[in-house]
Amino acid sequence: MTKYIFVMGGVMSGVGKGVAVSSLGVILQSRGFNVTAVKIDPYINVDAGTMNPVEHGEVFVTKDGVECDQDIGNYERFLHKDLSQLNYMTTGSVYLSVIQRERNLGYNGKSVEVVPHIPLEVIGRLKKVARQDNYDFVLVEIGGTVGEYQNMLFLEAARMMHLQDPKSVLFVLVSYVPIPKMVGEMKTKPTQYAVRTLNSAGIQPDIIIARSEAPLDKPRKEKIATFCNIQQDAIISAPDIAGSIYEIPLNFEKEHLAKTILNFFGLNNRTADLREWEKLVAKIHNGHKEINIGIVGKYFETGKFILADSYISVIEAIRHAAWYHNLKANIEWLNAEEYEKDSNALTFLKQYNGIIVPGGFGARGIEGKIAVARYCRENNIPYLGLCYGMQIAVIEIARNLCGLKDANTTEINAETQHPVVDVMESQKENLRLRQYGGSMRLGSYECEVQKGSISFQAYKQSTVHERHRHRYEINNEYIPQLQEQGCVVAGVNPKTELVEIIEVKDHPFFVGTQFHPELQSRFKQPHPLFLEFIKAAKK
Ligand code: GLN
Repeated sequence: MTKYIFVMGGVMSGVGKGVAVSSLGVILQSRGFNVTAVKIDPYINVDAGTMNPVEHGEVFVTKDGVECDQDIGNYERFLHKDLSQLNYMTTGSVYLSVIQRERNLGYNGKSVEVVPHIPLEVIGRLKKVARQDNYDFVLVEIGGTVGEYQNMLFLEAARMMHLQDPKSVLFVLVSYVPIPKMVGEMKTKPTQYAVRTLNSAGIQPDIIIARSEAPLDKPRKEKIATFCNIQQDAIISAPDIAGSIYEIPLNFEKEHLAKTILNFFGLNNRTADLREWEKLVAKIHNGHKEINIGIVGKYFETGKFILADSYISVIEAIRHAAWYHNLKANIEWLNAEEYEKDSNALTFLKQYNGIIVPGGFGARGIEGKIAVARYCRENNIPYLGLCYGMQIAVIEIARNLCGLKDANTTEINAETQHPVVDVMESQKENLRLRQYGGSMRLGSYECEVQKGSISFQAYKQSTVHERHRHRYEINNEYIPQLQEQGCVVAGVNPKTELVEIIEVKDHPFFVGTQFHPELQSRFKQPHPLFLEFIKAAKK
């Protein structure tokens, strides 16, 4: 019998609910349970693919090609498994299914109502997840914060599921307990209000994970217990950590969170095997030597704030690989547009041991990225280009080595004389009809890696599968010219001949991938290309 654990947020967003869900998954997994996680996003967008990363953070892509919320990436990195389209839903996707079913007479002539039909669709999907692999636990993260109008229907689904079978549903509230400077002490009132709000949706939390700057002290635990109607041992202290998010499962273990959960479900506790996890966490603290990695992008600014969220998988992949090599990675944001205004800026790239140009779309900043790729190529700075970063490297080589002065991607200049990067045949119709949602080349495809290449040295095998998200590709007509100038085609899709990896000869590390390797880097298994990149950066 699958157990469902709903995780909701109180007080405010951005306190690490996704990481809390992931960590909860790890401590249950470490006891031999089969666990998966689902993210529910309350927005109307059918998926995250049409959103600007500055709006909503990185767009993660599952193996089966769903453009989803970055939390799915957290779940995969922690739980060390591939998730699928079933693990992600939005208000838009739920309504779309219900409306499509209604159009197909799927409701047998009944009037279709927001309640119960929308929550029933949600419940149906969650049960489908459970059946997928006979899971012991399905963790369900409801996005946003309780009290928001837009996640009400999902709370309603959670409530209805609990009503159907109270013994198989548990509610966790991840709340924030502030320590305001002018007061100087921890205040529990916002959490009390969050619980009241949840109560008014018919839900009483069973466990509260209290996020705060500092650990909860005894009086605070007592207060939350009394006013929120929860046993004291079900209040979990989750203070900020100085180290890394991967330490959180170990903190949860200290707080006996798994024991409390199993107790609730009437299951016997089992001994946790967190030895491998502990070893890896210890390695994080071994990394005394530092390396500097620059990410040249543009999805950074929202007002005065810089959003690391836009490139979260890239950052995590760098960290995983750096820890593996006993290094600490200092990651810096470099604004692509700076290199357009000021060519002197390029010389500062020398302070970096490696440069990454990640995925991107559109014209803004592209000339800056091209200048960066050239500088890295000419100055032997390790360069890793991810998707757009690879296309940019090819444009650079075409312009500066092959002498094709106006070489470009047709994404930017449809009229270019030398479309070295061109729209894929299969994408032309989508663009003409303005069918943008979920229509890129998405998800996992095979890549044949060429022996003797840097990439082969990294992968140590010739057939790999990597995840994609793009509409444009390297124009194969230009390959002979590019090869003549020392550009190596190190990976191709064996079925379509689409170029998957390019490299530059006689360079410490210059690799571009049409796919997104960062999406498959895991805490327990750093990605081979990132390992090789960091190795070169270390040198
Ligand atoms: N804009 C490019 C394309 O669509 C690259 C996409 C990306 O970097 N994910 O092909």
